[in-house]
Amino acid sequence: MSGCVDVLVVGGGPAGATAAALLAMAGVRVRVLERERFPRFHIGESLLPAELAIFERLGVTLEPAFSLRKGGAEFWNERTGQHARFDFCDGLPGTPTFAYQVHRAAFDAALLGRAEAAGAELVWGQTAEAFEVLDDRARVHTDAAPHDARFVIDATGQRAWLGRRAKSLDRIDGFGLAAAYTHFDKVPDDARAELEATGNIHIFMVDDGWAWLIPQPGGRVSVGRVSARRGVRASDLDEAIGASPRIRRATEAAERLQSHLCGNYSYRNRSPYGVRHACVGDAAGFLDPCFSSGVAFAMLGAEWLVDALVPALAAGAEADPDLAAGASRAMDRGYRTMGALIERFYHAGLVDRLFFYDTPTPELRQGLISLLAGDLWRDDNPFERLLVSSRRRSGKGHDPRRPERA
Ligand SMILES: Cc1cc2nc3c(=O)[nH]c(=O)nc-3n(C[C@H](O)[C@H](O)[C@H](O)COP(=O)(O)OP(=O)(O)OC[C@H]3O[C@@H](n4cnc5c(N)ncnc54)[C@H](O)[C@@H]3O)c2cc1C
Repeated sequence: MSGCVDVLVVGGGPAGATAAALLAMAGVRVRVLERERFPRFHIGESLLPAELAIFERLGVTLEPAFSLRKGGAEFWNERTGQHARFDFCDGLPGTPTFAYQVHRAAFDAALLGRAEAAGAELVWGQTAEAFEVLDDRARVHTDAAPHDARFVIDATGQRAWLGRRAKSLDRIDGFGLAAAYTHFDKVPDDARAELEATGNIHIFMVDDGWAWLIPQPGGRVSVGRVSARRGVRASDLDEAIGASPRIRRATEAAERLQSHLCGNYSYRNRSPYGVRHACVGDAAGFLDPCFSSGVAFAMLGAEWLVDALVPALAAGAEADPDLAAGASRAMDRGYRTMGALIERFYHAGLVDRLFFYDTPTPELRQGLISLLAGDLWRDDNPFERLLVSSRRRSGKGHDPRRPERA
């Protein structure tokens, strides 16, 4: 484990594993530091079609043991009986037509396993602490040992190792603030068959936020409740479950597993890169999960960073402080568009007014579905144009530039 590697990746979630796998596949000497041991629980189980191309590039197969095909997203207001369903196959031409629901523990282990198989060295159970830049390398001090590398990738998720040290995380106000969630095992066969027929994610509009019901492989469901108030409690989750006939039907005869609480989310890291380092995934920013964009942003951000880093390493230019600027600008566009959609969700009645009532033109509906699929980096989406221009008129956004992919 001694010596200076080319790249040290801190964190082995989807962002870190994608970066490590692609780097190793390109012949780069890469080491991953992961503070936990896999498999470990993680929330974030509903993937988007935008990730399919990266799975292909990585050569990762999503095994039925830990994944379920997902056709789209459904939105419900059970008090009024309103319902809207969006199938990814109805998106704009070129938008991939399906996605997956995954057991994150097994999915994350499979991605990191791909990195190891490609040649990445994995170091378990070490937590990165200090970071310093030396003349010809960077050094990361962990609770166990120092590690030297020509370049360091912070993929530490919401722990946002470098962002918190630099105090460069800007909270995004007005989105969800906290979540409570759990899994149910042994879902009865009839409820299971109904959920698995489409594999769709179900989003329920509830007071002060929303709730989710996500089918999982093997007869499990994930249920969660996001609140726009601070300090969500496990009892808020119980209330959301009790108030929803659909969630009750899937869960009341099933076995409830451990509940989890989390808060403090929706932020951007205003300094996501610098000399000999860059942040990807949640370490670069996290948006409210109402449209399931986290893993897509983590994997795409890692892919685009690697595409800039590999030639820079070959040219000995990895100390360039702007090495990651192009990849970061490309991600900005995705964050901006998805952020505008989430803002409409919380503050402009997007679901009540548009999903349930309006009948947009077929082109606008296709465009909306492409955004829900995470297909955010194209210039021919009329719904995106409308979304961003109305946001600009209201003074809340900027014109998205064409992404500058490095
Ligand atoms: C309530 C909720 C619901 C969500 N739902 C969805 C969803 O449906 N779909 C979706 O796509 N996304 C969802 N997300 C978001 C998704 O979970 C994340 O965006 C995604 O996991 C980000 O991947 P990552 O690799 O950046 O970070 P992570 O997956 O968090 O991985 C970071 C890794 O770094 C390790 N680490 C942390 N600190 C250190 C350190 N100092 N040293 C060494 N290792 C360290 C951690 O142990 C962890 O394994 C949800 C998030 C929340 C909070």
